[in-house]
Amino acid sequence: MEPITPLWRPPSEGDNLILQVTLGCSHNQCTFCGMYRHRSFVSKPLAVIQQEVAHAAMDWPDARRIFLADGDALALDYDQLLAILQLLQACFPQLNRVSCYASPGNLGKKSLPQLQTLRENKLTLLYYGMESGHAPLLRMTRKGATPAFMAEGLHKAAEAGMKISATVILGLGGRHLWREHVEDTALLLQQVPLNFLSTLQLYLEPEMAAAFAAPFTPPFVPQDDQGMLQEQYLLLERLTHTPRPVIFRSNHASNALALAGTLPKDRPRLLAQLTAALQGHLSLRPAWLRGL
Ligand code: SF4
Repeated sequence: MEPITPLWRPPSEGDNLILQVTLGCSHNQCTFCGMYRHRSFVSKPLAVIQQEVAHAAMDWPDARRIFLADGDALALDYDQLLAILQLLQACFPQLNRVSCYASPGNLGKKSLPQLQTLRENKLTLLYYGMESGHAPLLRMTRKGATPAFMAEGLHKAAEAGMKISATVILGLGGRHLWREHVEDTALLLQQVPLNFLSTLQLYLEPEMAAAFAAPFTPPFVPQDDQGMLQEQYLLLERLTHTPRPVIFRSNHASNALALAGTLPKDRPRLLAQLTAALQGHLSLRPAWLRGL
């Protein structure tokens, strides 16, 4: 079966085999996200996946890394997900990593022993949309999680030995809530054991903007580039400590400024780069080159 497009995957999975074992997102309610708005969530039958894996194994028998699409393959029923991982190990002898997107709700529904077994069967990396650590903002954007719920799920995944790559959305609170958004996000990031952290800039598809802004009082005012850089600065300034070293990137195509380093070690250099950008000494990626 041909993949259903658009097929979203993390930038770092671009060279790896992508298998679409689910369609859509099981949550599909976040008001800033239009990725699967017009696609209902479907868990593909195992028989279909077996056929697709057999084809993929003929084309790419030495695949070492596989990403399970779509929006949150961790939503799969535990037995189904385990069966898929066992199938992949049987068909790809050099396999050393399976990854997928995961939502807070997905992690909440899997027990620690289940996550441990999935990790033992090579599901070792989860891409996790944190977006914010500010509870009112999570509620207004219908993320379906509180900061405490996210912390619990992320600790469980880390205890199971999984690596976690989390994303935070700059600009999510607009000009009125930016400080609360960033300060509470930094507090959450200081607690949870991440391996990777990326920041994106809020991008709202025009048809979603009104519904996104509706719960905000005072009315939502988008951040401009200076505001986004200020948010990035405050976030990194606050991350004086993290439970483990975190590889940080802001190289997603939505960002005005690409940064890369390890936290907290590289904070001074990253903050110096941000200061230079805020003062106009570093050029920003032109708006027309940005995207999702
Ligand atoms: S959980 Fe992720 S993919 Fe699903 S609606 Fe929210 S942001 Fe989009």
